[in-house]
Amino acid sequence: MSTMKLEIVTPERKVYDNDVNMVVVKGVAGELGILPHHIPLVTPLKVAPVKAKKPDGREDFIAVHGGFMEVRGEKVVILAEAAELPEEIDVDRAMRAKERAEQRLRSKEIIDFHRAEIALQRAMTRINVSNHD
Ligand code: ATP
Repeated sequence: MSTMKLEIVTPERKVYDNDVNMVVVKGVAGELGILPHHIPLVTPLKVAPVKAKKPDGREDFIAVHGGFMEVRGEKVVILAEAAELPEEIDVDRAMRAKERAEQRLRSKEIIDFHRAEIALQRAMTRINVSNHD
């Protein structure tokens, strides 16, 4: 089975760099499955787990907090503000962030709903990905 290279990078570091058989991401228009030989593509991503299928049959899950994906040749590059592998995630911190965001969304104060919703999405993505550790 043919492979392609998947790189996930943030402004601070390279989070992931592996040869994979398939990448599944959540683009702004919906879920996208990328296989080797895919046509060139650039798309913004939502805050969501990215799934990578490896030649040994195992799957990696990476928490990717928005950004862009570029597919070119046999290479997929994801550029995100922040991204974490399951073992890097502090689950208690993510639970606290989730609580805070939920409280804000429930409160009657005038808040920035979009910001609170995105914070909730980041926390839920981290909790979800950490379950695949
Ligand atoms: P918090 O409210 O807990 O700070 P956040 O969603 O506001 O969370 P971000 O702004 O997305 O945090 O990330 C800031 C930095 O902290 C990034 O480098 C990110 O990878 C890291 N980070 C945030 N939350 C966690 C977590 N639960 N586990 C590990 N790293 C985290």
